Amino acid sequence: MSEVKLAVLGSEGAGKSALTVRFLTRRFIGEYASNSECIYTKHLCLDGRQTHLEIYDPCSQPRKGKLSLTNELHWADGFVIVYDISDRTSFAFAKALLYRIRESPVGAFKKVVESPVFLVGNKQDLCHMREVGWNEGQKLAMENKCQFCELSAAEHYQEVTTMFTKALRNITTN
Ligand code: GDP
Repeated sequence: MSEVKLAVLGSEGAGKSALTVRFLTRRFIGEYASNSECIYTKHLCLDGRQTHLEIYDPCSQPRKGKLSLTNELHWADGFVIVYDISDRTSFAFAKALLYRIRESPVGAFKKVVESPVFLVGNKQDLCHMREVGWNEGQKLAMENKCQFCELSAAEHYQEVTTMFTKALRNITTN
């Protein structure tokens, strides 16, 4: 059985827990009351192979201030970075996370620099309140060799599943 460790990162309120819970349970949890770090585990069949998945959702990750990502960077095989398309601050935070991953010192950290990253613009159902353009997300992703999509944890179960499946596939074929 292969093992995959995926960290879901982004600013507080971007929808990390909503996306993770949606993928794992099919349900959209309107208010997710957790203030601690969560590691979810799941067995799934990915491209015919039994896979043990661990998803790390740092529920209490601070929105601002210095990023203290060292543990996540070493733990994870790949990353989903989430921002809220109706919140430009969350996009700036996602950008900072991405740079942090891509600019880790090479050498011992080489694995991190080359890790598969999926950039996700969440809350597409709020596009009437959009502050971040689709093009901006796409450009950031291209510049940093990431995959990219916009979706809504609230409304797009199938897209959420597709995104996580692609993110996992990128890791297992990396
Ligand atoms: P986290 O802090 O990044 O884990 O964010 P949460 O998953 O707790 O979500 C923060 C808030 O955004 C909650 O009130 C969610 O109900 C809401 N939310 C999450 N995803 C969506 C979405 O796709 N659309 C809308 N409208 N709200 C969402």
